[in-house]
Amino acid sequence: MTTWTARLRDISDFPKPGILFKDITPVLADASAFAQAIRAMAHPWRQASIDAVVGVEARGFILGAALARELDVGFVPVRKPGKLPGATLSLDYGLEYGRDRLEIHVDAMRAGARVIVVDDVLATGGTLKAAVHLVERQGAIVVGTGVLVELGFLGARAAWDHGAPLHAAVVY
Ligand code: AMP
Repeated sequence: MTTWTARLRDISDFPKPGILFKDITPVLADASAFAQAIRAMAHPWRQASIDAVVGVEARGFILGAALARELDVGFVPVRKPGKLPGATLSLDYGLEYGRDRLEIHVDAMRAGARVIVVDDVLATGGTLKAAVHLVERQGAIVVGTGVLVELGFLGARAAWDHGAPLHAAVVY
């Protein structure tokens, strides 16, 4: 059996020169690799009594929704501005160049809900951190965070200042 990590594909200079993009689409396209990857992401949380998985647009939706089914809990999307139809809570955060914003439905989770926040790739960590802050501002408890791939050489884990565990299914 091929391990799922063999299906991860590196694409150079995407979306701009100098970036080595970790493409997860071959993992998703292979039923066995996709199942292994989701089980690897689910592993730390099976006994954690979580109420929901929060996924960050866009690849965090694909993995997060599959992970929510695997853990038999609900899924909550965190989206780019202007995409969610209901009343939202939003949070601005800094990027390397400029700023961005994430939004969540105000009624997506009850206060005190135990959630994990997931995305596909942890690079600088800015996106995941912003999603965590947004969820916490809503009164939910972030039990942990998870990514499929951590780009360890970027040092996000060393700078990670949230108390809950940060799990990566694979680290490069
Ligand atoms: P960051 O906020 O720097 O941790 O960036 C994380 C977000 O950007 C995630 O949503 C990833 O999907 C995407 N991303 C950043 N760097 C890469 C990369 N090298 N390969 C694939 N996705 C990336």
